[in-house]
Amino acid sequence: MAQSPAGGPPRKTWMVDMPSTATAKTARSGKPIVKTVVKAKPPAIRPARVPVGGPREQAEHDRRERTQGSGHARAGLTPERMRERMVERLAASGIRHPAVLAAMNQVPRHRFVDEGLSSRAYDDTALPIGHAQTISQPYVVGRMTELVLADLPVAPRLARVLEIGTGCGYQAAVLAQVVGEVYSIERIRALHDRARDNLRALRVPNLRLVYGDGLLGLPQAGPFDAMLIAAAGEALPDALLDQLKVGGRALAPLALTRGRGGEQTLCLFVRTGRSSWSTTLLDAVRFVPLKPGIA
Ligand code: SAH
Repeated sequence: MAQSPAGGPPRKTWMVDMPSTATAKTARSGKPIVKTVVKAKPPAIRPARVPVGGPREQAEHDRRERTQGSGHARAGLTPERMRERMVERLAASGIRHPAVLAAMNQVPRHRFVDEGLSSRAYDDTALPIGHAQTISQPYVVGRMTELVLADLPVAPRLARVLEIGTGCGYQAAVLAQVVGEVYSIERIRALHDRARDNLRALRVPNLRLVYGDGLLGLPQAGPFDAMLIAAAGEALPDALLDQLKVGGRALAPLALTRGRGGEQTLCLFVRTGRSSWSTTLLDAVRFVPLKPGIA
């Protein structure tokens, strides 16, 4: 059990079976994803402090941003220093994995946003990247990267990871610092091109960008040790579950309940056998929607 992000009553942060009120389903079969109940130990994760929730949390988050975030830019700090400060704040917020913190200290987030927003690039907030999409909040990038690394079936430097939703390419660049190979799919052509431009100067040899519909996965490059879905759907498609290695893990924000103000939950799926997956519900999150087809 852990505190809810709002600091309210404790809320379950993991489970091995689906709750009766919120049943995650596979897209095609409509069957519950959990085919065997696995009495697994909960993954070694810490409760999130994600700034989602009611107006009070948002106000507190905004206040922190004003006092600790963009203030650095106003104080004339270099991007390197601003990045270090961001990493210090992430560590204070509960991101612990040294490789993840090092990766986030390495990747220049200001290169992934419009120049007009670069003074806010190291604030702990999502920012617009055009086409109604956003670059993920640094905390969420750190958290998801940590969760990918938590229990991979192979050593991280041997792991092959699939990201759905490249956006501007920031999360993919961070992932590529900590695992062997990253494939990242984007459905909006203009964003795919933009990510390619953003990443060209950084030279990330173990990252492949793919233009296409991520709901289909990338069977020609799989199976994958891990998947990170950076947009929220109602279910994890069977195609993606099938492309996970046994022992592999997929992280996906899912809208498990309809009509409740767009609440989303970060879910961890682990393939426990040829036709069994365990599901763990983690943090409350907020992502842009996962959409079918290409644009
Ligand atoms: N990973 C990004 C966040 C991107 S926002 C970061 O580093 O900050 C989510 C992205 O998912 C958007 O660019 C959106 O276009 C993309 N997306 C949504 N549905 C998709 C799909 N079916 N296939 C591939 N990309 C998709």
